Amino acid sequence: MNNFKFVFSDFDGTLTFKEGLSPIFFDILKLLELKKIPLVIVTGRSLSWGHFLLTHFPFLTDVIVEGGGAIVSLSDKFITEECMVEIGEVERLTHFLQEFHREFPKIKLSVDSFGRKTDRAIELHDLQDGILFHHIEDFLRNHNINFSTSNVHLNFWCGEVSKYIAVDHFLKKQKLDQSECVFFGDSLNDQAMFKSFKNSVGVSNISAVINRLEHKPTTILTGDENIGPFGVLNYLKKNL
Ligand SMILES: [Mg+2]
Repeated sequence: MNNFKFVFSDFDGTLTFKEGLSPIFFDILKLLELKKIPLVIVTGRSLSWGHFLLTHFPFLTDVIVEGGGAIVSLSDKFITEECMVEIGEVERLTHFLQEFHREFPKIKLSVDSFGRKTDRAIELHDLQDGILFHHIEDFLRNHNINFSTSNVHLNFWCGEVSKYIAVDHFLKKQKLDQSECVFFGDSLNDQAMFKSFKNSVGVSNISAVINRLEHKPTTILTGDENIGPFGVLNYLKKNL
């Protein structure tokens, strides 16, 4: 039996099912609300997505977005934003984009890049040509631009950003120890959390990338009954 004080979770593929919200997501919110345990979504989605989540799901008060690039919070109906990246790095990314578009004039940024501050994204659907994907990765590497893939995007950014750095910063502000918390994830961009977080759970669809993970979650769920939000709900029911 655990007494988790906070639950952290990735969004796409972990709280969503088949690329959409399902009733299970609402069951998770209901269970955590009943137990009075806050949920902090830790996602590669944009700052504007953080705003959307806070304004549509009243149970949520904090969302970590852009892979740890910013924290969006709601308090007394005021929404605040904490940028986790130095302004110089945000500007370097803006300048780099001009070079990127010169090199890859046909590659579009994801539509939600308009709502991004500390990173940009390209839809993985637009990068199904493996040679082009590797060419882009090499270009980012050669320009000292960091990158990672989520379930849906290739994200890239300047500066030191990770889901774990942002979660650690958040926990220090809340005066919480990470051993009192649990994290759920399913993809490569959750790796920093799997590496450094004491209690981490991979939902069963993590099997698609498990061999590419250098650091694996402490608990790995298996079976179709533990895909995405089903795995999150099953684990919480057993462990709260
Ligand atoms: Mg994911």
